[in-house]
Amino acid sequence: MPVLVINCGSTSIKAAVVDPETGRRLAELKVERIGSPEATAAFNDKAPTPCSSSCEEALSACLPELLRELPDDARITSVGHRVVHGGSHFRSPTLVDDKFVAVLEEKTDLAPLHNPANVSGIRATTELLQDVPHVAVFDTAFHATIPRRARTYSLPQEIANRHAIRRYGFHGTSHQFVAKRVAEFLQQDLRTLRVITCHLGGGCSVCAVEYGRSVETSMGMTPLEGLVMGTRSGDIDPGALLHLMRAEGMDVNELDILLNRKSGLAGLSRLGNDMRDIEKQAEEGNEDCQLAIQVFCHRVRKYIGAYAAVMGGVDAIVFTAGIGQNSAVVRHRVAQRLEFLGARLDEDRNRAASVNRDNPVAEISMPHSRVRLLVVRTDESWSIALQANDLSQRSGAEATTRIIPVAISARHIHLTQDTVEALFGEGHELTPLKPLSQPGQFAATELVTLVGPKRRIERVRVLGPVRAKNQVEISRTDEFYLGVDAPIRASGDVANSPGITLIGTESRQVTLEQGVICAWRHIHMTPDDAAQFDVEDGDVVDIEVGTNRVRSLSFGDVLVRVKASYKLEMHIDTDEGNAAELNMSDVGELERTDAEGTLRKANRFR
Ligand code: ADP
Repeated sequence: MPVLVINCGSTSIKAAVVDPETGRRLAELKVERIGSPEATAAFNDKAPTPCSSSCEEALSACLPELLRELPDDARITSVGHRVVHGGSHFRSPTLVDDKFVAVLEEKTDLAPLHNPANVSGIRATTELLQDVPHVAVFDTAFHATIPRRARTYSLPQEIANRHAIRRYGFHGTSHQFVAKRVAEFLQQDLRTLRVITCHLGGGCSVCAVEYGRSVETSMGMTPLEGLVMGTRSGDIDPGALLHLMRAEGMDVNELDILLNRKSGLAGLSRLGNDMRDIEKQAEEGNEDCQLAIQVFCHRVRKYIGAYAAVMGGVDAIVFTAGIGQNSAVVRHRVAQRLEFLGARLDEDRNRAASVNRDNPVAEISMPHSRVRLLVVRTDESWSIALQANDLSQRSGAEATTRIIPVAISARHIHLTQDTVEALFGEGHELTPLKPLSQPGQFAATELVTLVGPKRRIERVRVLGPVRAKNQVEISRTDEFYLGVDAPIRASGDVANSPGITLIGTESRQVTLEQGVICAWRHIHMTPDDAAQFDVEDGDVVDIEVGTNRVRSLSFGDVLVRVKASYKLEMHIDTDEGNAAELNMSDVGELERTDAEGTLRKANRFR
């Protein structure tokens, strides 16, 4: 089922027909120097020939030719379009229609270098291939899970909101793709791993992938923030820009050119943006090039340290894209002095590392390194093909309208038998008070007091039966009240979460070393329900919640949990219930509301 993948940049078009099963290319097209009279088009390995300088005209002329290059039995089943900026609006791959294009055009000011070209590409291609689904895949979508504290700039909120100024992050397809490869290579579930992915190509960014979800990334509102890149500056004190405006009278366009095109490796090295040339000159003693490499690598290392702190540790650090996959020098410099994290580079492996389609992952850490250092081959076109193929196959059933009951889950605690006895006396067993909606679960008569660094919360309900791990589930508001910084986690995922003190009866007290989380909003369902909704355990979906359908609110980022013993129900916490103005009781451990949800869309590609 070949997928045509279109990537229209400001000066180039890359198109490929990709087999989503294997990533193999059936045909390729590269148009360069769009916008100039010297524009050329090249098919597969053939020599470039002159072509039209406009993106639309070049695609109209070249795409039919590209399709003629395909084997006779290959028929395009869908088209995947790379779109740089999805803004806050597009959180997952989206089917292209007229409304989509109109919304996308509104967003074009967010990525001046890229989105207009993406829109041109979509227009030309939908015109040419009208009978197949077209899917837009966003560089920003994978980062839709970045928590508010990480995506918010410290500007006055009114002005930030008015202009949608927040961190979005880019290169999402690549970060997501390589994180998945890491899990396959390590033969572990991505949902148990903390991975730092360093995409070092023409554009560069780092991403903290905590248990499969992006929680931090170095690019921000635009692809200009963060690392040193080929021609982009990355992080710079905004005060320096104010100074340049005053001291040199620079205007917006001049600053734009300075920061996007003249800075980065090109600006530092005075030689250009190609790391190969810079490395060669640095070896020959060119001090500008030496400095360029030092600044580049220092910045990557700094972000790695920061992201290890953000996630409370790291299991694997990954190098990918042109520089990350090919430059042993850069990897060596970046990985220096990461031993304190438990990451030990093996110099021989680093020098010998080579990745390709058949061997996409190379390990470059020492055998005893606790943190695995890996080189992973990224393939954004393959990733786009996979996502386009997945959505187009499911597009007939975008919204599944079966009703999902919604329940508000008040703060509560799950305890181990040991902790129950420590809090309520030896041999004590939890006493069921009333059954909960999930079969077998009950609210117990036992109540405990949570003692945080700042304040305490009394009469917190214990839920039974006892579990293998202690877990305290609280809301954001509780976090601030108690003074703890709890991560958003799926139930059971308490590693590296903060601890808390519990008081039971007769002043019996236990201090947990970890276990406090904000529960990730989720839906329980049976395997039959999952088949009906066309989702799997671990999928992340959007749910439209309405109170008797008078008002509705969309909850993105809802985790699907599937088990034969579950009953179909979505659980949100009290803060979320308040935000949605849903009714609830102040005593409920799991209070049914009169709201119900419909599952809108599944983001299956993890
Ligand atoms: P893009 O973001 O344009 O797709 P790539 O991922 O292809 O970028 O990466 C381009 C960068 O990779 C260039 O800076 C190039 O110098 C660098 N690169 C490619 N091969 C090597 C190599 N062998 N050593 C060092 N850098 C390399």
